[in-house]
Amino acid sequence: MRTYLPLLAAALLLGACAGQGESTDLRPRSVLTPQQLETTAREATDQLRDTQPLLRERETNSYVRCVADALIRALPGDPGNWRVTVFIDNSPNAFALPGGDIGLTAGLLRVLDNQDRLAAVIAHMIAHQQAGDISARAAEHPLPLGTPVSRETLGVLGVGPSLGTLQPFDAAQEATADQTALQLMGRAGFNPAAAEHAWKALQAERALAAAGNGTTPEILTMHPADHGRLSALASVPPQAIQDFDNRRLRNQRPECGGREPGEYTF
Ligand SMILES: [Zn+2]
Repeated sequence: MRTYLPLLAAALLLGACAGQGESTDLRPRSVLTPQQLETTAREATDQLRDTQPLLRERETNSYVRCVADALIRALPGDPGNWRVTVFIDNSPNAFALPGGDIGLTAGLLRVLDNQDRLAAVIAHMIAHQQAGDISARAAEHPLPLGTPVSRETLGVLGVGPSLGTLQPFDAAQEATADQTALQLMGRAGFNPAAAEHAWKALQAERALAAAGNGTTPEILTMHPADHGRLSALASVPPQAIQDFDNRRLRNQRPECGGREPGEYTF
């Protein structure tokens, strides 16, 4: 059976092979402008798409695209152009970058096996992107421009590790992203109550991995899901519940497929 490196590990290898680590990349560095950051994020995803195995199965890609599109349509203003990539990687992971790239792993789909749970995590990633959390990280790190995208840059973007720059989002950023994601889920017609269950499922996967019976979710490195966070997710804002109910009562729930067994099952 063929095995694949987790996305983060593979990206590290990529950086090492390319000789683009922090200590060896001699290109001039600068704090990237917003446009440069978007371009670099797109190049980083291109790099991953060129080097990592992609899940090409049409039905699964349509399912993921449907969930992502429903959330994107619920964003305020012009949603812009988004690209969605599913990587063959058993470690649950996801990202959403400035410029509009969403990436996630087959391992995430394995753990979050219906549209509401999947929407919870994609909404969380979009919420970080919309809040400028990744841009804020980038603003603290002068980075080299151009390709190949450096290992350090991948780390700042949260799609690869680097020499000390892969830091988790802080508790305030996580709390804000969670609240934004719950609201976004409700507006899109996904059940916001699924968010707590989604992140609990990822925590459970980590426990399974620790016991030797699962794959450590890389996603929890960037997005720690401690007890306080899970408790807060259980308190869905009334507006999110109302928005979801409005969509549900009008039969405007997304119907993305997947393995959703029933209207209220998550
Ligand atoms: Zn987060």
